[in-house]
Amino acid sequence: MYAMQKYDVIVIGAGPAGMMAAVMASERGKRVAIIEKNAVLGKKLLITGKGRCNITNKASIDSFLEKFGKRGQFYRTAFHSFFNTDLINFFKEHGLEMKAERQGRVFPITDDSHSVVGLLQKCLKDRKVEIFYNTTLLDLEKKDERFFAKCEKKTLNAKTVVLATGGDSFRVTGSTGDGYRVARKLGHTTTALLPGLVPLKTKERWVKDLQGLTLKNIRITFKSGKKKIVSGIGELLFTHFGVSGPLVLDLSAEIMSLKSTRIELYIDLKPGLDVEGLKNRLLKEFKGASDLGNALKKMLPRRLINVFADNLGLDLKQKVNQISRVDRRLIADSLKALSLSISGSLSLEEAMVTCGGVSQKEINPRTMESKIISGLYFAGEIIDGAAASGGYNLQQAFSTGYLAGESSAK
Ligand SMILES: Cc1cc2nc3c(=O)[nH]c(=O)nc-3n(C[C@H](O)[C@H](O)[C@H](O)COP(=O)(O)OP(=O)(O)OC[C@H]3O[C@@H](n4cnc5c(N)ncnc54)[C@H](O)[C@@H]3O)c2cc1C
Repeated sequence: MYAMQKYDVIVIGAGPAGMMAAVMASERGKRVAIIEKNAVLGKKLLITGKGRCNITNKASIDSFLEKFGKRGQFYRTAFHSFFNTDLINFFKEHGLEMKAERQGRVFPITDDSHSVVGLLQKCLKDRKVEIFYNTTLLDLEKKDERFFAKCEKKTLNAKTVVLATGGDSFRVTGSTGDGYRVARKLGHTTTALLPGLVPLKTKERWVKDLQGLTLKNIRITFKSGKKKIVSGIGELLFTHFGVSGPLVLDLSAEIMSLKSTRIELYIDLKPGLDVEGLKNRLLKEFKGASDLGNALKKMLPRRLINVFADNLGLDLKQKVNQISRVDRRLIADSLKALSLSISGSLSLEEAMVTCGGVSQKEINPRTMESKIISGLYFAGEIIDGAAASGGYNLQQAFSTGYLAGESSAK
């Protein structure tokens, strides 16, 4: 009954991790099938980098590992096996050049993710990988040294399986957490699934008045009580519910992983000056202005001025020569630490990545093979360990996909 559906390797999920795993396994002469629930390949890959696909980063391996925090070391072998230059060369050899932009972010020269997916599709076709579209894996069993991948209308069987079903966010792309359930059924542990790269909500409603305002080159610091959690310099965007923008998204995972419900965000609007320097700067601005409103125009974006003064209970019409030393100190302190209380984040569904997943402790980092079920491999976002934005997550998917594909074919 299964004669036509016997494979050496079955890959579940045609995201970047699954496609790379299938390319590698088939290149080693194996008969490979991919099971993909969507009608197309790489549905999430197509929307990455706002449709331009920030495929990797020029950073060193050590910087890459740092971006994954405590979960970084696990990826050392995967990155050594197939790193950013290997990925760039892989695409180049198949006819697609890459270019680097600010902060080392690498994109295809076409500025179009379709060219990335198109190239991978051609590689799979050339290597005769069989792709089962519109086919959802429902269950995976291992019997007599073979895996049985059960789908609605068919069951495929193979010697090894690569589980590359992605995370549990942006579900419309097909990543609905199915792989976690399958892995758990086979005896694996999954760590808490939390939103990563996600906008944060604030208790203060005044953010709504600033919706759409971007603050550039500011420092933000998250604290729980007096304890500093994390800090960084970059860009923050106000939204109707709170804060977003690259810097907030990057630091959000650390905030979401905390148990504390009392988290404050401090925005340093003038990171280049200390409080003393700022007080001097204020004195200078006060000399050339009639009232507080005019003085602040030189120091803050126009839209922020009203909110800033309201928060301090100051009148913008107040004459600068009537502003007390205490109020000047208050203004300087507030420019260094405009505070907001974090009340939560948008949902996992709205997060760009899922933090958490199949426990790294149960996967051999040298092969990506399960330590619990031999012949089962993991690749991509299904593994616990996501990074900041900048091309690191896609490189993780390609690197672990490469290693899992290669190991599964041995
Ligand atoms: C809006 C957005 C922008 C992003 N931009 C970037 C970026 O520019 N750079 C970057 O590095 N990262 C980016 N990311 C993160 C990146 O997209 C992911 O880290 C990456 O796609 C993970 O790859 P993956 O192959 O592990 O999983 P996925 O890409 O999620 O692929 C998993 C595949 O498995 C399939 N699948 C799931 N369950 C089943 C099942 N039961 N049966 C069959 N098939 C199944 C899904 O349909 C899907 O096609 C972005 C994410 C989002 C949401």
